[in-house]
Amino acid sequence: MTQAKEPSFRDSVDLMFNRAVALMDLPPGLEEKIRVCNATYTVRFGVRLRGQIHTFTGYRSVHSEHMEPVKGGIRYSLAVNQDEVEALAALMTYKCALVEAPFGGSKGGLCIDPRDWDEHELERITRRFAYELAKRDLINPSQNVPAPDMGTGEREMAWIADQYRRMNTTDINSRACVTGKPVNAGGIQGRTEATGRGVQYALQEYFRHGEDIKAAGLSGTLDGKRVIVQGLGNVGYHAAKFLSEEDGCKITAIIERDGGLLDENGLDVEDVHNWIVKHGGVDGYPSGRFIREGAKYLEHDCDILIPAALEGVINLSNAERIKAPLIIEAANGPVTAGADEVLREKGIVIIPDMYANAGGVTVSYFEWVKNLSHIRFGRMGRRQEEARHQLIVDELEALSADKELGWTLSPSFKKRYLRGAGELELVRSGLDDTMRAAYGSMREVWHARGDVKDLRTAAYLVAIGKVATSYRALGL
Ligand code: GLU
Repeated sequence: MTQAKEPSFRDSVDLMFNRAVALMDLPPGLEEKIRVCNATYTVRFGVRLRGQIHTFTGYRSVHSEHMEPVKGGIRYSLAVNQDEVEALAALMTYKCALVEAPFGGSKGGLCIDPRDWDEHELERITRRFAYELAKRDLINPSQNVPAPDMGTGEREMAWIADQYRRMNTTDINSRACVTGKPVNAGGIQGRTEATGRGVQYALQEYFRHGEDIKAAGLSGTLDGKRVIVQGLGNVGYHAAKFLSEEDGCKITAIIERDGGLLDENGLDVEDVHNWIVKHGGVDGYPSGRFIREGAKYLEHDCDILIPAALEGVINLSNAERIKAPLIIEAANGPVTAGADEVLREKGIVIIPDMYANAGGVTVSYFEWVKNLSHIRFGRMGRRQEEARHQLIVDELEALSADKELGWTLSPSFKKRYLRGAGELELVRSGLDDTMRAAYGSMREVWHARGDVKDLRTAAYLVAIGKVATSYRALGL
């Protein structure tokens, strides 16, 4: 439970924003213009289900339109409220600015527990919500482009895209009205894994910098690092999977809604994930130490803590007991402003949400571009690339034979070298590049300025600086 003096999520974001602008020299008034949410639309609509009319409440908040369209997910959860969507919309503005995705920030939410409804009912509810938003241009390829968030996925995005298309039959760009769609309905390869993949790339980049590793009191590489993950949903699952399968990390604890599992030798992410899909939680999983009060494991000894579930889970009530030297915020707002201060004083390094989970919106950007260009990435160049590589391989092999040099290229090298990049490779390459570049811009501020002591403040400085530049260019 959070204590009474804990600010709301929206206030938390503003407090962090204020801490950063205090170090900037913005023209009077611009600071407030950037901080405030431009508009929040609340809709209450009825859907006849199970023989009666059910009324649902939904929101779409637009934080900043310095660039359009504005971008951000739609969340389905009973905890959705105006304060939360506004905080999340603000974070979207800063996130997009930091990773140079050319969007303003927005966010939506529907107060609903998706598990209470069957698929057919959810489709009717989603279509109706989409209708309400689309008719006010709160879903529109050039003005406001939603995406998945907690409780939604590609299925809901496909319904939204189809609903928009039905309402705009002559809009040739209608597919770009929403991202995170299934690949066969205008989506892009690698979008589902994107946020988790981005968390992995962020950690890989962090571990390329000795000075930064030392700042957290760590050493070495990602190999063998003990990682605790909270939330094995889309983001946490992919992050944990890639870090354990590709970087040698040990996932020592997994915290879910119904409890936590701990195994110092490392848990099998795929196996735990399959268990959760089948049983709805981690309770009863045959290995690891289960506790009902899973949040206790946030306080367990580890090298890296990945909160990938709800906001505010690290707050004034537990911050003092957090032992992880490095926290990467895969969720939005998992650390409250109060806890952030406590953790900073303890010397814990936090890789902030606006950077850490920006992989989702980055690949959404690629999807939107793909939809507008009406062509899959790699379609024009792939075979040409392969043909040019083949030329080199042929030439080298001919040279070796001619001069009787006696060497050959290994079949595995040839196979890898000759393969031209398809959409998935290009998406991953673009995401990796984005995560490296954004880290570089934060890191530079973090190390170059004596008054910036943490990555979050650095991230805000970079992001706000970019938004301010856009506003200035607009003549504000
Ligand atoms: N909901 C995700 C986020 O919070 C993705 C947003 C998007 O792709 O537009 O970043």
